[in-house]
Amino acid sequence: MGKLSNRTIMSGGHFLRWWGGFLFVLTAPAWGWSDHASLVWPLLREQPDIVTRSVPAESLRQFLTAEQNAIAQTLDDVEVWSAQNIAHYPLTPASLSWRNSSGPIVERFLSAIRVNPSLSYPLYVGPSPERSNPVVKPLPWSALSFLGGGNAQQASRYWSLTEGESVSVAEVLATASDEPDLGMDIGLFDDNGTAFGQRYGFGRQPFGNPNLDYGSQAPFHMGFYHLDWLARVAQPDLQRTYPLWRIALFGELADVAFRTGHPYWGWRFLGWGLHYVGDLTQPYHAVPLPGVSTLQALWSVVQGKTSEMVQLVSNRHGVIESYQYQRLKAALAAEEWSAPLLRAVAEQGNTEPLEYTSFVMDLTRASVAAASEFNAVIATHVSPRFVSDPNFEWTGSGFEVGLVDTVRRERGQAAVTQLDAVVAEQLERFSRVASQWIARGHLPPEEAAKRVTQQEAVMANE
Ligand SMILES: [Zn+2]
Ligand SMILES: [Zn+2]
Repeated sequence: MGKLSNRTIMSGGHFLRWWGGFLFVLTAPAWGWSDHASLVWPLLREQPDIVTRSVPAESLRQFLTAEQNAIAQTLDDVEVWSAQNIAHYPLTPASLSWRNSSGPIVERFLSAIRVNPSLSYPLYVGPSPERSNPVVKPLPWSALSFLGGGNAQQASRYWSLTEGESVSVAEVLATASDEPDLGMDIGLFDDNGTAFGQRYGFGRQPFGNPNLDYGSQAPFHMGFYHLDWLARVAQPDLQRTYPLWRIALFGELADVAFRTGHPYWGWRFLGWGLHYVGDLTQPYHAVPLPGVSTLQALWSVVQGKTSEMVQLVSNRHGVIESYQYQRLKAALAAEEWSAPLLRAVAEQGNTEPLEYTSFVMDLTRASVAAASEFNAVIATHVSPRFVSDPNFEWTGSGFEVGLVDTVRRERGQAAVTQLDAVVAEQLERFSRVASQWIARGHLPPEEAAKRVTQQEAVMANE
């Protein structure tokens, strides 16, 4: 991006155009914490009623067919709530509404909840880190996603389930908490070159490159709910982020599934919602440019250094997610349940009831508050070539797997200790909100027993 004089910057048209350029390059990797299923496992394994319970798998088609009216009411309620509570909420076009539409039932539902309809949302599960893999062949990645996927996702570790097969609640929840990264939120905007994007009513993609897959999911997996006034005025499009909507939508769908005796879909929708809750605990998903004030961002536009600044932020974002993933994966593989990072995820149990807006605003406020220090610790302790060189691109660099060893070799064990400590702080926040979210699936025991019996009766009658 070329240099601009102050005079150019001060003329409104140019100002907006160059600031718009800033938004275009804001193509932070939209992966949240890599591999949400592993991330949540240390928490789930501490909850006996989740680990020991199983539910019968049920296809989406069967759930939708059985509960058309209850789903219609839920979707109507979510739409009204969203219009009233979410700033910049793009109303669901009337033609997509579950009540009014016609055609195959699964397609109608995917349109009504405005997710990518080219995925099949099949019955599948990823075994927990404490269970050995089934002896039959795993599903090919292409059966679950059209994406190339990152390291975490490419490993073949998902198996097909058959209708009615008994499956652990913990595994349904953990597996589903990864699912929104398989492409559900990709291609939903007008300018993403998809037919459904043109029908969904989300308008043009608010930031990021509309031609990149992950750019297009970012506005659903990042929530910039605490921008300062200058950012809101200079760049109103940053306010068009939708994780609060996804969280409320999947929270309510989980409720209706539980209420009507479809616990498999209750846990799966709860897992989908958990994904967005988890993403928002990552400071790089709650602040567009951690460690950079709005004034500094504007100054970088004046100096023509926007893309350098964005590249650094993007690299730090990617590096810390790789770091967190590598550290957790190693501790899980070794079953080091007392390792500090796994304890951080396991120990912050919270089962208080929640209300969507204050829940999301409070958790993102905490993520925003952590962002600056998080960024500083990453900049100080990770090898400079990864986090302080604007000419370097982390994503696809091939350094992901060896990252922890490289940091240890180049920066010393003290750097690893510091990074672990700051990651543990974020994971504690994750643990608090994730346990609160998961508690929505806990029913009074007699209620749960009643529903399981009803469900079994339904399955027996078929
Ligand atoms: Zn991310
Ligand atoms: Zn995500």
